[in-house]
Amino acid sequence: MINILEKLKDSALTGRGGGCFNTAEKWSLVKLSEGVEKYVICNASEGEPGVKKDRYILEHHAGRVIDGMKIAMDFLGASPGIVYLNPDYYFKFKDRLKKIIGPTPIKVFNKPRQAGYCGGEETSALNTIEGKRTEPRFRPPYPPTSGLYGCPTLVNNVETLYAVSLIARNEYKKKRFYTLSGDIIKDGVYEFPESWTIETVLKETNNWPNFEFFVQVGGDASGEILNHDQLKQEVTGSASIRVYSVIKYDPITLIKGWIDFFASESCGKCTPCREGTYRLHEILNNKEPDWEMFARILDTLSDTSFCGLGCSVPNAVRSYVRNVLNNSHESISNIRL
Ligand code: SF4
Repeated sequence: MINILEKLKDSALTGRGGGCFNTAEKWSLVKLSEGVEKYVICNASEGEPGVKKDRYILEHHAGRVIDGMKIAMDFLGASPGIVYLNPDYYFKFKDRLKKIIGPTPIKVFNKPRQAGYCGGEETSALNTIEGKRTEPRFRPPYPPTSGLYGCPTLVNNVETLYAVSLIARNEYKKKRFYTLSGDIIKDGVYEFPESWTIETVLKETNNWPNFEFFVQVGGDASGEILNHDQLKQEVTGSASIRVYSVIKYDPITLIKGWIDFFASESCGKCTPCREGTYRLHEILNNKEPDWEMFARILDTLSDTSFCGLGCSVPNAVRSYVRNVLNNSHESISNIRL
């Protein structure tokens, strides 16, 4: 597979797990790094609410994903490969995956349930596979130079490896998978050109609402909230789109849902996230929430959290206040953005 790196460069493929890092660049870093061993990990831990594309791909295109792993292992001289699955996917897909894998040195790893959402972050995944506590590592060094057991490691998302297989076989059409959910008729996972706008995706699937609505893009917890006038743009992150009917949702209940998710999924390693998400939860349960304090904790989370989970806590709340509430809810709209 001599020219796979050139093909990846030409495709401009970026990671489909949400990080959007250039795939060819990541592969080059692993290739150039020296190590006794090298590893390839397929990250199938998909844990954010509202994102179901990896599950869909494993169900319908598992052969492609394993093919992408084999191409990566050949190119990098890496072995073994590891498919890192969340427990639900492990029980659903392990037998089929093992059959497809055959004698190739690829292991199927069952992520412990308690590893949760945080266990999907790539350095947390490395710790979990090594049998250590599930928490992110300090970076640098990054996994391409020092990953599993300190060796150069390629961690790619399920959809990224699916795309690698298509690129290697000259079948890639610059498409990606979109998970649609919420107040729509035809929810599910769709494959469309990556250049399509959110508006186009909703219209082409006959899901454009005839009521007042807003959407959350890139995960139902960390995704950004956009109003219906902001949808002439491409999706971000893991490419999920959730539609909310404006009249159906009370702002406090919505914000509580986002905050409580992060409070329960915080790994507890760093104080801003461990204490901050708990305090945000506490404030929201007061009869008269202290929004000034709430805003200050959000700032602390985005500025000082150890990993992306803590940094992304404010995304949904801030964008909801800015793009949807827009002064319509007097006290919450005072949140400093
Ligand atoms: S921000 Fe801190 S506590 Fe939260 S998940 Fe990351 S390391 Fe763990």
